[in-house]
Amino acid sequence: MNTDYYPAEPYRIKSVETIRMNTREEREKLIKEAGYNTFLLNSEDVYIDLLTDSGTNAMSDRQWAGMMMGDEAYAGSRNFFHLKETVQEIFGFKYIVPTHQGRGAENILSQIAIKPGQYVPGNMYFTTTRYHQERNGGNFVDIIIDQAHDASLDIPFKGNIDLSKLQRLIDEKGAENIAYVCLAVTVNLAGGQPVSMKNMREVRELTNKYGIKVFYDATRCVENAYFIKEQEESYADKSIKDIVYEMFSYADGCTMSGKKDCLVNIGGFLCMNDEHLYNDAKELVVVYEGMPSYGGLAGRDMEAMAIGLRESIQFEYIEHRVKQVRYLGNRLLEVGIPIIEPIGGHAIFLDARRFCSHLTQEQFPAQSLAATLYLYSGVRSMERGIISAGRSKETGENHKPKLETVRLTIPRRVYSYRQMDYVANAVIHLYSERDRIKGLKFVYEPKQLRFFTARFEEI
Ligand SMILES: *Cc1c(COP(=O)(O)O)cnc(C)c1O
Repeated sequence: MNTDYYPAEPYRIKSVETIRMNTREEREKLIKEAGYNTFLLNSEDVYIDLLTDSGTNAMSDRQWAGMMMGDEAYAGSRNFFHLKETVQEIFGFKYIVPTHQGRGAENILSQIAIKPGQYVPGNMYFTTTRYHQERNGGNFVDIIIDQAHDASLDIPFKGNIDLSKLQRLIDEKGAENIAYVCLAVTVNLAGGQPVSMKNMREVRELTNKYGIKVFYDATRCVENAYFIKEQEESYADKSIKDIVYEMFSYADGCTMSGKKDCLVNIGGFLCMNDEHLYNDAKELVVVYEGMPSYGGLAGRDMEAMAIGLRESIQFEYIEHRVKQVRYLGNRLLEVGIPIIEPIGGHAIFLDARRFCSHLTQEQFPAQSLAATLYLYSGVRSMERGIISAGRSKETGENHKPKLETVRLTIPRRVYSYRQMDYVANAVIHLYSERDRIKGLKFVYEPKQLRFFTARFEEI
């Protein structure tokens, strides 16, 4: 497969949304009012919005048609059965519990599968995932390969679990003290890095020896499957659907944020094969989400998610998706802009440590870089570094992640290659004036998930 080939869009546009560019003077005022936090900007003040790929997907004509076929019954909606059959067919799990989004599934799984004091090893953490694990008494342990923490190391499958780290944890703590292994495909915070099929198989073999369960964070499983097809030996001729199915055959269940790979704007679900766990999950879903047959979603949302999941495993769609991200990344690499390599599935991560080498991590370089990129161009990105990592529960000190990044996240089926050029040119221009990026300090720091609502001022 030619990795430098950029396919044209495998769709045509039927409905458009006008975007507006404001002036630099306006943006200067707006970013200051937003406390230098791009989460606090209004969408209308953004020209190209790369804050997240979560819920920002463009739905297809078929999904919109599905929205009109919502069965809004309180119980037993036909859309639930369609979703259930689709997930059973594509993922292969027995039971599915819909939830309003991914964290709804994480909340329930963490409550039913973690006993206080147990360990939850994972391939790097995700903000909401770790939050729910810790809230339920779990101790998160990072068992991703060391190379994942090195932003400039270009190796395939940088999201893999280090089996010796997992073995060591089992030896030290005992298998009974491990709640489950949480395996994310792909790893968002490592830069959208995929996990190889071989690694998934090996994790399964190791955990089977000890009777430890494995739950996937399935959020970007289709993007992960594309990388396997492209880069893993003996998968080139397999369909994306078959690869996805095999991936999940090595898991006991998963949490899913439908807002990513299911190509919808809201939705999620929890899957498992164990009937007892399923019964526990059903008891909690009525408390937090709704009936087990809607889980906080309208019937029409479940219909759109079922249709979106099927569209997502079409090769033409996922090839274009991953290649468009790669196009933006390669434009930056060509001129020596420091980004996380290899280029992942959903986003380009600027390496703020190297981009802002004049700032220390305690001056929040990634937070400031994201704010300054908005000021220069109207492009909205987000910080993934020391602010996102939060503080240690024990010491109250800032976690200091090795990766200090700004994420340019590409929504699915939304922007064109030409718009990617605009973004690339903006980043290149800012890089040439990077010494003007100033350090920041907190003026307001929330206790939980602080990156969403924190406010800053320039030092
Ligand atoms: C978005 C995301 C979640 C949480 O899903 P929500 O739908 O936003 O609640 C969990 N894990 C990963 C890797 C994600 O990217």
